Amino acid sequence: MLNGLVLSSPAMKLRKQVVVVGGGFGGLSVARALEAAPVRVTLIDKSNHHLFQPLLYQVAMAGLTPGEIAVPIRSVVRRQDNVRVLLAEVTGIDLAARRITTRECAPLEYDFLVLAPGAVNSYFGHDDWARVAPGLKDLDDAVEIRRRVLLAFEAAERETDPIVQRRMLTFVVIGAGPTGVELAGAIAELATFVLSRDFRAVHPDQTRVVLVEAGPRVLSSFEPETSERAQRSLAEMGIEVRTNVRVSGIDSTGVTLGGERIDTSTVLWAAGVRASPLVAALGIETDRGGRVPVEADCSVPGYPEAFCIGDAAVFIPAGATGPLPGTSPVAMQQGRFVARAIKRAIDGEPRETFAYLDKGSMATIGRKRAVAEIGGVRLGGFAAWMTWLVVHIFYLIDFRNRLLVLIDWAWSYFTYQRGSRLITGHRLNAGTPGGAARELDVVETRSPSRDTGSTAPPV
Ligand SMILES: Cc1cc2nc3c(=O)[nH]c(=O)nc-3n(C[C@H](O)[C@H](O)[C@H](O)COP(=O)(O)OP(=O)(O)OC[C@H]3O[C@@H](n4cnc5c(N)ncnc54)[C@H](O)[C@@H]3O)c2cc1C
Repeated sequence: MLNGLVLSSPAMKLRKQVVVVGGGFGGLSVARALEAAPVRVTLIDKSNHHLFQPLLYQVAMAGLTPGEIAVPIRSVVRRQDNVRVLLAEVTGIDLAARRITTRECAPLEYDFLVLAPGAVNSYFGHDDWARVAPGLKDLDDAVEIRRRVLLAFEAAERETDPIVQRRMLTFVVIGAGPTGVELAGAIAELATFVLSRDFRAVHPDQTRVVLVEAGPRVLSSFEPETSERAQRSLAEMGIEVRTNVRVSGIDSTGVTLGGERIDTSTVLWAAGVRASPLVAALGIETDRGGRVPVEADCSVPGYPEAFCIGDAAVFIPAGATGPLPGTSPVAMQQGRFVARAIKRAIDGEPRETFAYLDKGSMATIGRKRAVAEIGGVRLGGFAAWMTWLVVHIFYLIDFRNRLLVLIDWAWSYFTYQRGSRLITGHRLNAGTPGGAARELDVVETRSPSRDTGSTAPPV
């Protein structure tokens, strides 16, 4: 039966109304776990797709296409008659009146609310840097980064001045958390294995990748031994790792690190995130990262029928020294927990306490190079890379995507080819390498053929 018909049936109208804001890892887990529950779910997202963010860097580095790591939210829940999906941006939440407002629809009332709007890039008060140093949070960011990186190589190929060419071939990544490490490693590989074959004036030795970190070590959320291992791998790949260094300026021609200047036309931001600005609309106290300090049952303090999960929430387990990390397993486990809490509330059962099951952490550095910490076991090199690969393919939401990603990775592994080296955009604008304003179409076609950051602000 069609969702609309079922949702408007008299029996369904008597059901409790659950509004879920965000179709990311957290929100989608809630909606799916409420499949057999006697509720009507309205899932609202401002984008029409669920995005597998762990593989965004692969899109940014031309390894995968956007369609391989994203799937329409509507299609994920198409078999769930009690769920309707609304493409809309939530702009206001009245917790006392249990009502939310969106830019596109009439106000919606709820019995239960689940807020899972995720996070946005944070420039620590330097929002003007966003234009010259894009962050990596969504598909638009990934495609923009891909465009800038590929254009930098194109500009270097036609440049005759060696000093300018050197600037074009210098890439600075700010923030050495998992995303920064992945980006730096992927740029180095792109230059070494892929582009050097296709360009004539660009040699891999000329490419300089600098990874800047304000804290004392890379991958600060991992054990020190794992960080050292990762740093060695990065050095072997020719990446300059600069720890204990703070960024004091970024513009279209370079980065200033205290008294030092690095000339570059491509700066990528992987140094920090903060909760979605929607959280501010709640009018409640938040932590420094703009997140909701939730109760032990993931509810918003003072509002037991409203929950906040994932990257928009800060959850400190009893007895723990710090909050849970902003990762997809936390968001998914909280999503399933909240679905259960809603079912229990409807049945008149008491609330439980959320307990996180930590299955481990991984970060990939490059081809056959990764680090992993799983239940006290530390892995590195090829074993960690294979583990990372299998886990990421397993958690991709759509079978078709799993298959496509597997085929693309196998192809890239054996052929050193990248399948999606497309440069798209209407114009080469002033903020991009090369700078000249001219019409641009696709310049390369598809050949056969993927927290961020430091805990220490970089400024
Ligand atoms: C580049 C990158 C790499 C990562 N790699 C890993 C990894 O390897 N392993 C790992 O565990 N975690 C990783 N993470 C973190 C992980 O992706 C997040 O912790 C997880 O996505 C959080 O889930 P969430 O549901 O809170 O938010 P999200 O998954 O971000 O979903 C939020 C959703 O809310 C929607 N939304 C936001 N505001 C509104 C609004 N006002 N109205 C309507 N809809 C709205 C958004 O469109 C989005 O769909 C990575 C993140 C990034 C950015």
